[in-house]
Amino acid sequence: MGIDADTKAALLEKYRAERDKRLRPEGNAQYLRLKGQLSYYLEDPYTPRAEREPVTDHVTVAFIGAGFAGLVTGARLVEAGITDVRLIDKAGDVGGTWYWNRYPGAQCDTASMVYMPLLEETGHMPSEKYAHAPEILGHCQRIASQYGLYEQALFHTEVTGLVWDGERSVWVVRTDRGDEFTAAFLAMGTGPLHVPKLPGIPGLESFAGHSFHTSRWDYDYTGGDPTGAPLDRLGDKRVGLIGTGATSVQCVPHLARACRELYVFQRTPSSVDVRANHPIDPEWFATISTPGWQKRWLENFCANQTGGMAEEDLVQDGWTDLARRIRSKIAELPPDERTPAGMLAAFEDADFEKMEEIRARVDSVVSDSATAEKLKAWYRQLCKRPCFHDEYLQAYNEPGVTLVDTGGQGVERITERGVVVAGVEYELDCIIYASGFEVGSAYTERAGYDPVGRDGVRLSDYWADGMRTLHGIHVNGFPNLFVVQPTQGANLISNVPHNLTESGTTIAAVIQHAIDEGAAEVEVTADAEEAWLDLLGSGAGRMLGSPDCTPGYYNNEGRPPLPHQRLNVGYPHGAMAYFRYLDEWRRSGAFDGLEFRWVT
Ligand code: NDP
Repeated sequence: MGIDADTKAALLEKYRAERDKRLRPEGNAQYLRLKGQLSYYLEDPYTPRAEREPVTDHVTVAFIGAGFAGLVTGARLVEAGITDVRLIDKAGDVGGTWYWNRYPGAQCDTASMVYMPLLEETGHMPSEKYAHAPEILGHCQRIASQYGLYEQALFHTEVTGLVWDGERSVWVVRTDRGDEFTAAFLAMGTGPLHVPKLPGIPGLESFAGHSFHTSRWDYDYTGGDPTGAPLDRLGDKRVGLIGTGATSVQCVPHLARACRELYVFQRTPSSVDVRANHPIDPEWFATISTPGWQKRWLENFCANQTGGMAEEDLVQDGWTDLARRIRSKIAELPPDERTPAGMLAAFEDADFEKMEEIRARVDSVVSDSATAEKLKAWYRQLCKRPCFHDEYLQAYNEPGVTLVDTGGQGVERITERGVVVAGVEYELDCIIYASGFEVGSAYTERAGYDPVGRDGVRLSDYWADGMRTLHGIHVNGFPNLFVVQPTQGANLISNVPHNLTESGTTIAAVIQHAIDEGAAEVEVTADAEEAWLDLLGSGAGRMLGSPDCTPGYYNNEGRPPLPHQRLNVGYPHGAMAYFRYLDEWRRSGAFDGLEFRWVT
């Protein structure tokens, strides 16, 4: 299907108009931080808090965050013979996002075979192409048990202070449980989406009914459980769900089946493509799971995603489909049109076609044409997190389900009785906030601690004008400290765990080298860090969310990037090239750019 110039112009105009009506002058300030009176929204509904004595010992490695980042780094350290590893997490167990997000229907959006880390090492076969949350949480627990990471772990513990002690070459770690211990090496992998946020809707605190955030699902109230058992206490309830992002898309079908009435309050529709989940066949799995299989799958997915010329597509899903379409459009270009402008046009064409298909899918599924119209997404697919589901759109055909579209304006007000949109009050027993997580705030603000490095420099000051690292991992002025996250590295957003596993492998190699050599300190030099930033700056810039996209957390709510987001970019030659480069960097044993120091 080709798209002619007039249609393209009309679509672009529609995209612009839809975006403009969503722009809000407050940007990120429109959201509420969950503190003070609102802090009860953060309470852990899953694990009771156990009292314990403060810890005052010394460990070789302390890791803040017991999600995928901490688990894969911990596993790689243990494989390297460094077993004295302590994970610290505010949650009651390992799992990170999979600890908190237990809402009904939660499942991974990237294929389990590449999304779930260390499958080969643990011998686990995912049960489905897109595994559900309980299996992923179970896998996190499997990794922690297999690698002995529970032994030293501190749960329901928030770090409050991190100070480098240059005299002793250790980090002093303080927590809200009165702990004060030292660590020879310290790593942080807290993920970008660990602080839930609420929309700043007037009257939010006046609602007299029940309410909770999706990342703290209240099964006592709804009935059911994270495995998908029916939410059997909602049969007489009128429930309002605020938000239509990736979380909402997954839990709406469950609520639609259970509630007497469900009102979904929409500001911007998500693009919802086909999911096509299916069980994984053990016989098939046995044929493909030969040694090195997961690395092959990871590399194949990454190559298909990021424009590599992989001959086959092992994963075959919505992520690789878009990339394949773009490649074939570019291949169709006559040689003299293979210019940057020609490639951009090919990319746009592929995206227009894909989004037209996704919009046509809404019409084919949703019976009420007015509702169908409101569920159509008018922006480029990667402007917002692409969603995939085979029951979400169908839920709007259920008699008790109402889509309340706010025309891009958001909910007007919350009253004691319910939610008001365009002057109409919807009376509710319960409001569920599928309103997402803080992203625009500075890293240290979200973390709740601010590492103090060499010469008393705070990380927030060092990063005031933007993140500064080598490989997204090492920070000058912060010896023996490592950060685990995708930015300034591969920046592969479609499969974040791939980035984390590579970082974990790197950190284990660096710490092992320091220990083997008897070095007390390791730190990136200022020159190496500067050179890395120069290299990043030579690339095309931010991958996600240009300001002309519909507003959201990908693009600072439709505003130009904040100064500290300027350097939130990846390796200019792409994710595949980055992983190859990092592998060679590690294997060479020279650890170029790092300075190892022997303290006398
Ligand atoms: P999002 O931030 O994506 O969605 C928040 C929703 O709340 C949006 O629909 C937003 O509208 C809406 N909202 C905010 N303020 C208002 C308001 N005043 N009135 C009405 N609506 C409002 O959060 P999610 O939890 O859905 O997802 C966050 C991220 O977590 C995803 O992008 C994804 O990266 C990850 N995730 C991954 C999953 C997976 O891999 N399986 C599943 C779920 C989440 P608007 O769009 O207009 O801002």
